[in-house]
Amino acid sequence: MTDTIETLDVETPTSFAELGLAPELLRAVVSAGYTIPTPIQARAIPLVLRGRDVMGLAQTGTGKTAAFTLPIIQRLLGGPRRTRALVLTPTRELAVQVKEAFAGYAENSGLFVCDVYGGVPLGPQEVALRAGADVVVATPGRLLDHMERQNVVFDDLEVLVLDEADRMLDMGFAPQLNRIVAGIPKYRQTLLFSATMPPEVEALARKYLRKPFVVQVGLRTQAASTVSHAVYPVPRDRKCALLAELLRKTELDSVLVFTRTKHGADKVVRNLEREGIAALAMHADKSQGQRTDALDQFKKGTIRVLVATDIAQRGLDIAGISHVINYDVPAQPEDYVHRIGRTGRAAATGDAFTFMAADEISMVRLIEHTLGQPIPRISVPGYDFGTVAAD
Ligand code: AMP
Repeated sequence: MTDTIETLDVETPTSFAELGLAPELLRAVVSAGYTIPTPIQARAIPLVLRGRDVMGLAQTGTGKTAAFTLPIIQRLLGGPRRTRALVLTPTRELAVQVKEAFAGYAENSGLFVCDVYGGVPLGPQEVALRAGADVVVATPGRLLDHMERQNVVFDDLEVLVLDEADRMLDMGFAPQLNRIVAGIPKYRQTLLFSATMPPEVEALARKYLRKPFVVQVGLRTQAASTVSHAVYPVPRDRKCALLAELLRKTELDSVLVFTRTKHGADKVVRNLEREGIAALAMHADKSQGQRTDALDQFKKGTIRVLVATDIAQRGLDIAGISHVINYDVPAQPEDYVHRIGRTGRAAATGDAFTFMAADEISMVRLIEHTLGQPIPRISVPGYDFGTVAAD
């Protein structure tokens, strides 16, 4: 391993055909409905195809999943049925989503992709792993359980992907990552994706990647540009009434509401129900079944409002969210960027509203400082506490 980190500065291709993808993959891209590669895809795919280690600085919504799944599938095409690629993700939801993306793009390739995450029985995952998955997408804790039981053999592993590496470290997965990496081949291709690059992620990259290319898309803290966002100054005890009022507007047809706490999420759901608005809560106290069910209903559109804590913040790919509402101001500016990234995914447009109580003004100022721009205020008569300046 070396310290060298190269940054890429070349003409970026503007069509998928120029990226060097095989015809099977070009067909998969067409059937996914993509016409041009996103910037992270245009830059990362040729490098991954060349077998290089890549560090992708890109937040969710930039098309980063296809940036690594497409070239990995190409690498695996026609090879032996062994576990040759491993993707580690911080959450179960992201694992499921990455697995689905893989399986979708690999539909006609005969590759078998399996996902492995906690909160569900080990048995079916063991069967899938022992059957010889070509690609394993896993959360670190559960994967270690399987490795310890020798349910999975990584002797032939060629590619390791660390997806949302910053998030994995935030969640305290560093020891598990170390143990997993110690159990897989040293000579491999490693890809690391992260929305942010704090020193811990940089250290991880230096440890696990070999001469990585750094591919950065946009500014780290740049909010998705298709999203228009606004702050509603509102006293804390009026937040629920304001939410119900906004939800009565028909254009808010698919809304992800974020609260700071699990208790807060449940309370918002109860209050909305009292107002005759159906909503479901999604947080860590819910069982995996309840979480999957809530997400399914939200995706299908049978439920319009999903109230979530941080758990849903990243990685969730729910097409067609029209609005994100921060019921509480996120404590970290970067969380704000990720949350509003929910609506601005690839092509969709959406709005992000943040409810700001008087004691949250300084947190909003910090977010604005990080974004490098003020967020417009919307004052609603009867709700506005009327004392806020956006300087
Ligand atoms: P990701 O950042 O990987 O979570 O992807 C965000 C969304 O963008 C997903 O819904 C993808 O299906 C979509 N997407 C990925 N690549 C493209 C592309 N080249 N053109 C249009 N949409 C895309």
